[in-house]
Amino acid sequence: MTGDRLKPATVAARAAGAHEPASGGVVPGISVATTYLRGEDYALLRPDNIYGRDQNDTVRQAEEVLRALEGASASLLFPSGMAAVAALFRQVPTGGRIVIQSGIYWGVTAWARAFCTRRGITLDEVDAADAGTLGSACTKPADLVWIEVPSNPWLKSVDVAGASKAAARAGAILAVDATSASPILLRPLELGADLVMHSATKVMNGHSDVLAGVLSVRDADSAIWQAVARDRHDAGAIIGPFEAWLLMRGLRTLPLRIERMCRTALTLAQSLDQHDAVEAVLYPGLPSHGGHDIAKSQMQRGFGYLMSVLVRGGHADAARVASKLQLFGRATSLGGVESLVEHRHVIEPETGIPENLLRLSIGIEDEADLWADLAQALA
Ligand code: PLP
Repeated sequence: MTGDRLKPATVAARAAGAHEPASGGVVPGISVATTYLRGEDYALLRPDNIYGRDQNDTVRQAEEVLRALEGASASLLFPSGMAAVAALFRQVPTGGRIVIQSGIYWGVTAWARAFCTRRGITLDEVDAADAGTLGSACTKPADLVWIEVPSNPWLKSVDVAGASKAAARAGAILAVDATSASPILLRPLELGADLVMHSATKVMNGHSDVLAGVLSVRDADSAIWQAVARDRHDAGAIIGPFEAWLLMRGLRTLPLRIERMCRTALTLAQSLDQHDAVEAVLYPGLPSHGGHDIAKSQMQRGFGYLMSVLVRGGHADAARVASKLQLFGRATSLGGVESLVEHRHVIEPETGIPENLLRLSIGIEDEADLWADLAQALA
């Protein structure tokens, strides 16, 4: 059976069939060579392996797992999520136009602003979760529409199918940053997106020990994909084989981790929503959340493991709750097996993020332990 016909849990557990042909081992080895031999006739021993900046068996194995999980025609790994973002944005011509969702991961917004200024590209930041606003932005021609679903840290839900139609009207490519969802919860390519990107540093790897980014495409023959692939080859943003191997190992348990994290997150979000010391919980799984209906229609198997909590009061009250938490690590990032809390205003005060917002990334710990920790910190 080919990877494309198998369910995600099977693809992941079997690492899309990756194994070690030389020893027969069920787990592949790590191919560390940076260059590859030619025979006496000067022909390559393996025609598909010339030099490590573009060809590496371990990287290809990890890319195949990602491709099959995403339902893509091709996937390419990068040494970080931002390297993947940059490889795509670099393909927008000087003088072009990008429509980007506002209120998304600040690292992307900040980098895109500086990049577009340098390159004379018009950057229009719009609330893409509002279909009318995105539709108006797409009445003018554009090269790229960039959305993040669900968005970080607002957890907004953009209707991906609607966004793909709007992008097409503008003659633009639609790219979706689905980092906080993972392909287990959201498959943007099936909803009409042209490209999907993940910071694989997050839940894809899931163990907070690898930096990685991945771009996947619906049509590997498209001009944009050929340009991205050439960019990775020529500019050299290639992930190391050890990182690719670790990522593949992490991916084996992705569906299981996601299932557990989503279940716990929903229960905790419901409990937090009822707590007197909480002003609001931003989580797509709550019917009160503005993006609930869209999330319900396009997300499979759950609403994610990421939520933002507005603590009643102000900066000091949120800081006190964060400082009293014992099981939630006070650290940036998300999607690991360990739960994390982040007081985002401290990290990015310039973005207008509410001072009482705490972002929680729910891990795989025992749900009752996590609730007891949250309850004592909020008391
Ligand atoms: N996109 C989102 C939604 C993120 O949360 C992050 C990192 O936090 C990135 C992209 C960037 O990924 P990386 O840190 O792997 O470069």
